[in-house]
This record gives sequence, C-alpha cells and structure tokens, in this order.
Amino acid sequence: MTRDLFLYNTLTRTKERFEPLNPPNVGLYVCGPTVYGDPHLGHARPAVTFDILFRYLRHLGYKVRYVRNITDVGHLEDEMAGEGEDRILKRARIEQLEPMEVVQYYTNRYHTFMDMLGVLPPSIEPHASGHIIEQQQLIRIIMDKGYAYEINGSVYFNLKKYNDKFGYGILSGRNLDDMLSNTRELEGQDEKRFPLDFALWKKADPTHIMHWPSEWSEGFPGWHLECSTMGMKYLGEQFDIHGGGMDLIFPHHECELAQSTVVTNKSYVRCWIHNNMITINGQKMSKSKNNFITLEEFFTGNNDLLEKAYSPMTIRFYMLQAHYSSPVDFSNDALKAADQGLKRLMKGVSLLPRLEASATSTVDIKTLHENAYTALNDDLNCPVLLGSLFEGVKIINSIKDGKETISVQDLELLRTFMHTFTFDLMGLEQEENKNAGGKILNKVIELLLQQRQEAKIRKDYAASDNIRNQLVALGIVVKDTQDGAEWEME
Ligand code: ZN
Repeated sequence: MTRDLFLYNTLTRTKERFEPLNPPNVGLYVCGPTVYGDPHLGHARPAVTFDILFRYLRHLGYKVRYVRNITDVGHLEDEMAGEGEDRILKRARIEQLEPMEVVQYYTNRYHTFMDMLGVLPPSIEPHASGHIIEQQQLIRIIMDKGYAYEINGSVYFNLKKYNDKFGYGILSGRNLDDMLSNTRELEGQDEKRFPLDFALWKKADPTHIMHWPSEWSEGFPGWHLECSTMGMKYLGEQFDIHGGGMDLIFPHHECELAQSTVVTNKSYVRCWIHNNMITINGQKMSKSKNNFITLEEFFTGNNDLLEKAYSPMTIRFYMLQAHYSSPVDFSNDALKAADQGLKRLMKGVSLLPRLEASATSTVDIKTLHENAYTALNDDLNCPVLLGSLFEGVKIINSIKDGKETISVQDLELLRTFMHTFTFDLMGLEQEENKNAGGKILNKVIELLLQQRQEAKIRKDYAASDNIRNQLVALGIVVKDTQDGAEWEME
C-alpha cells in the first residue's frame, strides 16, 4: 500500500509528491481569521480543509507543527489597496469597545464554532499584536537590504526593485504591468513611489488608537507582514506548507512571499495550498447581497434563507463532499441531502459492533481500505474517500441482512477502516454522542424502546403503540427490524 502523498502546489501548478524539509517534522502555516466579526462559512472552509491535512499528516507519522494566526491589527478595509480603516478598530468604534475586547470576543467565538465543527486546535495560534517587535525587526532587515523606504513615518515595500530581481506575481501568475493597469487611483497612494508598493509600517493618524512606537513613527504594522514574521519565527526561514483561501493568493500571499524572500534570499515555502471559495445559492456570500449566513445561524436555523437548522457535522460533511479546490455552493436542498448522507454513514458505523463474523468472506475489504488511502494521497480527495466509506456502509448492511459474509480478520479490518477514516481523518462525529445531554437522551430513548418491547411481549399493543406515537411526535422515528427496534432523529 502506497503512503506517498501528492499535493497540488499553487506555486508550480502541479501535483507534487510531498517531501518534508526535515522529516519527520512538518511545518504548516495557515492564515487564520481577522477577528472583527462572527465566524461564517468563509472561516469554516479553510479551517476544515487544513484540519484534514493536519490530521492526515499526523496519521502518516509526521510530527506536525501547525501555526494558524489570529489577525488582530493591520488588516485594513480595502485590502487590495492597503487603505481605509483598520477592521478591528472600526468594529470597536461601532460597538464602543476597546479594540482588544473586540479581538477577545470574536476569537472566543471563532474557537467555539471551530470546535463544534470538529476542527482540531493548531499547535500555535500567534496574534499579530503580540509580534510587533519581530515585525519591526523584519522591516529593518528589508530596509537595510534596500527593498523598503520611509516616507512621512510610513514604510513601504519597493515592489519595482523586487520585481526586477526576483519577479513579483509568481504565485498568482500576474505580472506587474497588468496589475498596474488594473489599479484604481486611490486617495493616500500619492506618498508611495509606485502605486503597487505596499505598507510594512503605517504611521497612525490621531484617531487611530492601536499604535506602537517605532523608529519611524507611532504606528502599526501592515497586514501582510505578520504572516512572514510569525511563519518564519515558528517554522523557520523555509518551511513545508503554507495554506489559506484562494482569495488570499493576491495580494496577501504574493506580498508575504516577497517580504520573506528579501529577508532570507531563500525560497520561502515549498508548497502553497489554497482552498476554493463558498457561494450561497450560486452567489458570492456578502453582507451587501444580503445572503450572509453566520455559523451560529446555520446551527440554530435563525436566518430567513434557511428552511431549518443544520448541525455542525452536516456543514462539515457537506464541505468534504467537494474537493477543497472546487467551489462549494450552499443551498437548503444540498444541505438536506448532506444531512441524509451523514446519517446513513453514521448509522452504518453504529451497526459495526452488531456484525458477526463467519468462516469465510464474500467481501473485499482490503481493496476498499487501499482505495481510501489512494483517495487521500491524491491531493486529499475527500469526495472519493467518502465514496469508499459509503461502499463500506453497503457492505455493513449486506452482512447485517445475511447477503454477504465476513471473516474475523476482515471484520476487524472493516471496523478499523470505518473508524479511522470516518472519525480520525474526516473528523466526523456521532452528534448525539457529542455532549453528555445527548448520551442521556440516547439512554432514555433506549429505555422507552425496551418498555415498548415488553408491552409487545405482553401483547399490550395499546401501550406499545402509545410509546411509539409519543416518540414520533418528538421527531424520533422508530423502525422495527429483525434485531429489534431502531430509532433515529427526523
Ligand atoms: Zn496571512
């Protein structure tokens, strides 16, 4: 069985065999949230995508240091131009809070919702505001090397000079002339020598309340700089994988790459991985289009666009049904279908303890197991992997129904396969088991079903029907099978 993992590298535009720089260690950096608003699908997708990568690399035996930052300063409203108000600051002004209250509140919310989605915490979660000195040190190096200049207390990266030596735009495949012709004339750009130069340090205007002293001015660092700084601080001058959403390729990752390349004169990251975007009913999610749905609204159903609430695992499962490099469109129909699919998978897994082995197997578990690895090794192909898991469910059902038989050895392999890939690698969870309340609910329902069974044995059908009808009224469907009564939530 091959364990060679191939990943699509945005930089080379090919699928490459993954080889860490310092095995068994792997350095993984992913751009985390700017914590100025409630977590939504745009946060969930990269978190889930790189959670799968994190889980799989660890499964393959690597020692992974996963760094996912918190942006709490420097991310301005117009990120293309690097202009406008700081996003955290704007929220603090509107809500009349300290900027750090905004940061803490939305960081906590982000953690809560990522946990609900089954996303493992990273190894290090550094804050930009906690690395101001390191960012200033990097600016000093870039200036000393002649790739940055100071004007009126702000420091800008000299893009033209960088382009001449290293070539700017290699990640996004853009060249400077095209970029320039697409640049709008913007207020404040006049102090830069060249319109596409971006800020490493910005002098704070008097209304700006988040600022730090520096040799250039009282000010704050540019957004792109934090990822160069924290990536290199925790993972070294060169590291294995850098991830993020596709929308970050330009300008964020291009600028990050340029800064780090100037500092070290080495190639910065081996493999850049980008997840595709999310749409809602075929449209880009945005506050102005009024199709903005937060994760909390998905989980509670409290949004006019939603016909019902969808559980965190339904959202996770739905995202995994698409390859990370494909767009995902959210609609009620698609989510309801995902809900059913997830229930079918979980039901299959829950039947595993009841299966009995026979002397011989009529099913091929080995191939199924190999196919699952092949899928993940092929650039984390989760939809194909889910196909193998549903093959597994089919096999479980036919063994249960006596249509197929399975040997002791194969049954062991089937159990390992279903558990490892469903729970450990896809990170799906049996939702009724997720909290203690759910566990108690399970027990109570089992108890009622037992009483119903006893009533049936006494031939007290009025009592047994009564229990069943009351459960149905609560949205619990009871099915009688050869092995006794089974139940599921509607
Ligand atoms: Zn970043």
